[in-house]
Amino acid sequence: MKTRGSVRWPTHTGLVESTFVEADYLVLGSGLAGLYFALQASEHGRVVVISKRGLSDANTQHAQGGVAAVLGTGDTPEKHIEDTLRVGDGLCKPEIVDMCVRQGPEHVLRLANKLGVDFDREPDGHFKLGREGGHSTRRVVHVHDMTGAAIQKALLERVQERGDRITLMPDCMAVDLLTAAKYGGPNAVFGAYVYDSKTGEVGTVLARAVVVATGGAGKVYLYTSNPDVATGDGVAMAYRVGARIANMEFFQFHPTGIYKLGILITEGVRGEGGVLINNEGERFMARYAPTVKDLASRDVISRAMYLEMRDGRGINGQRYMYLDVRPETVNKYAALDGRRRPDGSPYLVTAEEILGKLPDIIDFCRTYLGIDP
Ligand SMILES: Cc1cc2nc3c(=O)[nH]c(=O)nc-3n(C[C@H](O)[C@H](O)[C@H](O)COP(=O)(O)OP(=O)(O)OC[C@H]3O[C@@H](n4cnc5c(N)ncnc54)[C@H](O)[C@@H]3O)c2cc1C
Repeated sequence: MKTRGSVRWPTHTGLVESTFVEADYLVLGSGLAGLYFALQASEHGRVVVISKRGLSDANTQHAQGGVAAVLGTGDTPEKHIEDTLRVGDGLCKPEIVDMCVRQGPEHVLRLANKLGVDFDREPDGHFKLGREGGHSTRRVVHVHDMTGAAIQKALLERVQERGDRITLMPDCMAVDLLTAAKYGGPNAVFGAYVYDSKTGEVGTVLARAVVVATGGAGKVYLYTSNPDVATGDGVAMAYRVGARIANMEFFQFHPTGIYKLGILITEGVRGEGGVLINNEGERFMARYAPTVKDLASRDVISRAMYLEMRDGRGINGQRYMYLDVRPETVNKYAALDGRRRPDGSPYLVTAEEILGKLPDIIDFCRTYLGIDP
């Protein structure tokens, strides 16, 4: 940790000597939220970004499918808002949905045109838009099936170019927020205690503003696609200094992944025609969501899979199902659904097309399942 001096803080065991770093903005976390904020804040002052482990050790790095935004011809913010409120089952705050949907395209364009995220494009230069569950149209920009890694890489490169304004401190874990209230002042945060895992020392970062961008707490589950860093530290730190904590019950259960490994299989696989099959060889989503079937929203699919497995229709009676992406299956159900390509031609895929669209998943199958699709 680069230090600017040392300071003596009162603690319950007396005065403790601690090195300190100063900044205008202290950002906790180097995922999408932290890095995106750091870039904007660097226009206004000096920024320190600390990150618990490696700079790309974040949920962002693992995101696959892509980012939904109104960018396609024929799509409108109203349609996206309607889709979101519908699948939100009455739990969404309409004003927040409205804000996210209307601001989304601007941020995606910024990622693409200013920050260097190389989203997949059609031959004519327009974004290649994927279709995901709950969306009534194609609106997901993506970089193959490794969108998060591409965003993380681009943001990190841009941040590193701003070395004059942004200091990156990997392997530094925030352990507590500093508030003036602890020293008899107002309850305002002015920095954080930081544990440097390389030196084993706890230092202090002082800042005019502290942004907590430490991500979620998905790691509380035994099987999860989240990396080890997702332990909800920021929420706990904020809670300890009196912040109001809300919505902690909202964990996303992504329906598809590799059994017992916590490796996610992107929703885009179903968007491209992959079909969920139970032990009886049945495409069971037709019973639970007769209209959208395998493209139902994640909560609907997760519940349906749970019920199928509970009732003994998991594969071999076990707690997993098949996600069938063999061209013969995809083409059979696409024909039954009357699915067509945007140009009106029948939806027919080849094995090469599937291999080309889902390189990451194919790689997982080879590496973890010993299957060469
Ligand atoms: C497998 C997977 C697939 C996904 N696919 C999609 C998708 O297709 N589309 C989509 O929109 N979303 C997707 N998501 C969700 C998306 O990745 C997250 O919502 C988003 O990346 C969160 O960004 P963040 O910056 O808030 O958090 P993160 O990216 O998790 O960043 C948190 C940062 O905080 C750091 N940190 C944590 N604790 C501390 C501490 N005490 N001190 C210092 N640093 C700390 C971490 O090391 C990390 O750098 C997916 C998530 C996963 C796991």
